[in-house]
Amino acid sequence: MDLDLLQRTLAERGEPRFRARQVWEWVARGAESYEEMTNLPAALRAELAAAVPLSALALEREARARDGTEKALFRTADDRPLEAVLMRYRDGRRSVCLSSQSGCPLTCTFCATGAMRFGRNLTASEILEQALHFRRREAIDHVVFMGMGEPMLNLDAVLAACERLPDLGVSARRIAVSTVGWIPGIERLAGEGPPVRLALSLHAPEDALRSELMPVNERYPLGDVLAACRRWSQARRAPVFVEYLMLDGVNDRYEQAVALARLLGSDGAFKVNLIPYNPTEAGFAGSSRAAIDAFRSALGERGVMATVRLARGREIDAACGQLAARAEASAVTASP
Ligand code: SAH
Repeated sequence: MDLDLLQRTLAERGEPRFRARQVWEWVARGAESYEEMTNLPAALRAELAAAVPLSALALEREARARDGTEKALFRTADDRPLEAVLMRYRDGRRSVCLSSQSGCPLTCTFCATGAMRFGRNLTASEILEQALHFRRREAIDHVVFMGMGEPMLNLDAVLAACERLPDLGVSARRIAVSTVGWIPGIERLAGEGPPVRLALSLHAPEDALRSELMPVNERYPLGDVLAACRRWSQARRAPVFVEYLMLDGVNDRYEQAVALARLLGSDGAFKVNLIPYNPTEAGFAGSSRAAIDAFRSALGERGVMATVRLARGREIDAACGQLAARAEASAVTASP
């Protein structure tokens, strides 16, 4: 729902201020039509139905993987593509992965989104709409800003969406904002907005390799990024989740685990999440399971907590780094 349009439409009609809140409460709880909003006068419901579409995005395609992961491809009113993913876990967790931009202006070499054309920042309503799409079907309890785009480049809209996500059932502490290490954004999140979690895409333990993989490292080098993350961790009294993609022969050697452990320290400011590489057209190969386990042990022996991320939704290109809004990407079991 376009919340600005809702507010304008209600104001034009001279409706009391609480109407917007009433409508939003219905929408946030998963209402699929204005008809359901029984505490609104019938005439108003009809007018809103004509003036304010319930969804700010058009759903173009959906795909469902065997592990229960679902991916939705949307278009904005000006025809920009974006994707969102729902992950269902066995323990009942329902986590939604949201996009903050259509495409991404950064050019990380291993990521499919970086290879598509950058469109624009999404509005707060367009961000919320992705979560609402899934919320209309089932309860959700976690949100990660790990879809398309760099959230820190669109932080006003991301924070505005985070303010409203609790209405959908997702408290701030169950929201994670992931960044390439955009320092001004990390600094803002340390002092401003709801207490969301921070995730850092690190991927290399030294500057030369990181710059090769992630050109943004030229602008914000490793040491400065980690210092900003430490300040965030102290201010928010929470660990930073470090995402470390496992690329065969590139960043998965023993010495690199040792260097990573030295960089992060064992004071608990950082927790590492090792990410198996999901195939894209970039030509990297993922590390073997044995290499990932060895890397993890080397970190653990040095007091750095590490877990291995479960790859989900791979066969529908819904996994990390695979979101590229390609038409052919959703061929598997497209739902009706
Ligand atoms: N721009 C932000 C938000 C996107 S998060 C960021 O980079 O943090 C997407 C996560 O998936 C990032 O950690 C990214 O590095 C990772 N990723 C990108 N391509 C991947 C791939 N092919 N396989 C696995 N993870 C990938």
